[in-house]
Amino acid sequence: MALMTWNDALSVKVGEFDDQHKKLVNLVNNLHDAMKSGQGKEMIGKTLTALIDYTQKHFAAEERLMKQHCYPEYEEHKKEHNMLVLKVLDFKTGFEAGKAPLTQDVLTFLRDWVVKHIQGIDKKYGVFFNSKGVK
Ligand code: FE
Ligand code: FE
Repeated sequence: MALMTWNDALSVKVGEFDDQHKKLVNLVNNLHDAMKSGQGKEMIGKTLTALIDYTQKHFAAEERLMKQHCYPEYEEHKKEHNMLVLKVLDFKTGFEAGKAPLTQDVLTFLRDWVVKHIQGIDKKYGVFFNSKGVK
């Protein structure tokens, strides 16, 4: 079973970002699958890297649009993004060094972070962007 599924409760009412969030959910599931099916370190490392790369791309896309529309909560939002990126890069470093295996706890943390972030702070920009004509 997939670790998480995208559903309407996760919609931020901006099509481009809903699509990106769906992809993010898929990438978290891929990592979960790779771990569950006992893939080797190299394969798990690859799915982890794919998740981190896409996350950074997605964050940059959100931040770009926020800046473009002078979103008042830009700084606060960017801070949350930066903190997650630091944390997952830490996971990656530990994993690659063989010091910290990826555990179910790490996956649960990622899933909960994504859901909380989308339903909380991301949804807030949805209302703002819609008011600027971005849908
Ligand atoms: Fe987002
Ligand atoms: Fe965000």
